[in-house]
Amino acid sequence: MASQPLYDVIIGGAGPAGLAAGLYAARDRYKTLLLERNGLPGGQILLTEHVENYPGYVKIGGFELVEQMKQQVLRFGAELAVNKSVDAITRQADGTLVLSVNRGKAAYQARAVILALGSDYRQLGVPGESQMRQAGKVSYCATCDGAFFRDKHVLTVGGGNTAVEDAVYLATRFAKKTTVIHRREEFRAQKVIVEELYAAAKSHDVDIKLPYVLDAIIPTPDKAAIDHALIRHVNTGATETLAVDGVFIFVGMNPNTGWLKGLLPVDANGYVPADPRTMKTAVPGVFIAGDCRQGADMQLVAACADGVAAALQLKAHFRDGGAWSADLESDEPGNW
Ligand SMILES: Cc1cc2nc3c(=O)[nH]c(=O)nc-3n(C[C@H](O)[C@H](O)[C@H](O)COP(=O)(O)OP(=O)(O)OC[C@H]3O[C@@H](n4cnc5c(N)ncnc54)[C@H](O)[C@@H]3O)c2cc1C
Repeated sequence: MASQPLYDVIIGGAGPAGLAAGLYAARDRYKTLLLERNGLPGGQILLTEHVENYPGYVKIGGFELVEQMKQQVLRFGAELAVNKSVDAITRQADGTLVLSVNRGKAAYQARAVILALGSDYRQLGVPGESQMRQAGKVSYCATCDGAFFRDKHVLTVGGGNTAVEDAVYLATRFAKKTTVIHRREEFRAQKVIVEELYAAAKSHDVDIKLPYVLDAIIPTPDKAAIDHALIRHVNTGATETLAVDGVFIFVGMNPNTGWLKGLLPVDANGYVPADPRTMKTAVPGVFIAGDCRQGADMQLVAACADGVAAALQLKAHFRDGGAWSADLESDEPGNW
């Protein structure tokens, strides 16, 4: 493997948390590299049509915000490498960390690492889901795919904030009819968002069915479209078929931390515990930031704040690497 320059800090993941960490690290004159597995930085915010809750912007497109964040971090000298998926970290005898990328095709060396890996959409795993996803008939992102279902009947699954918000978005902007199901008697979403859904149901064709689950998505014989969805009442077990054109599944996120198991303590849901003030993990020199951190607020500004908090710890860490104290209760090994 060709020898690599030693970076002060390498940031795994160039979503909002990674970009914010990169901005602070590079502006502090640390030699900084961001490694991003996708072809573009930005993470989940790229999927967002408009952001209205990032301080300083009344309303800004997700893509535009990412572009500004990217320019800002590059302006201070950070390097950004895309299509680079980090898949392992090892420690050298001299204490530096080596990140393996794209299954060992490249390696990068750093004095500290900030992992800002974010999350991916959770799937239900029902029959027909992945087949119809490939056909473009199952989606996990209303902003990305809503426009493909203009004047169609869509089914939404889930009861959290995103689920209810996106059901309203689909119902009021695109769909001819929206059926909304959730497995509990009540939505988990904030009251104000649920009220928006019921308000939308007065002016648009919205059918809210509680408590229902999705059992299967049945394709047409040529597998190009959905023939119908099979839903079931949770209490009575009665099943119904719905002739829908698309299914939007909003049942949460999976943190992109699968490869960390064995390297770092990871909780049952895949989130990495860290000290919430410093973002220190159980492993000296490895910080975690953003949506993949246990207890993260799953918001853009909070992810940025995590990245900043981690970057601000670099100075103290470089001054006295031996002073790393994991303020964590985990007794899993973390001293590699
Ligand atoms: C549709 C949608 C709308 C949203 N709207 C809002 C909103 O209006 N306001 C708000 O505050 N929040 C919003 N959010 C949430 C917000 O986008 C997230 O909280 C935020 O993006 C989290 O930032 P992050 O950097 O932690 O993770 P992510 O944005 O998930 O970024 C993580 C990055 O790491 C990369 N990565 C993952 N694994 C690896 C690896 N092994 N190697 C290299 N790179 C890797 C990913 O490709 C990704 O680019 C929205 C989210 C979605 C999906």
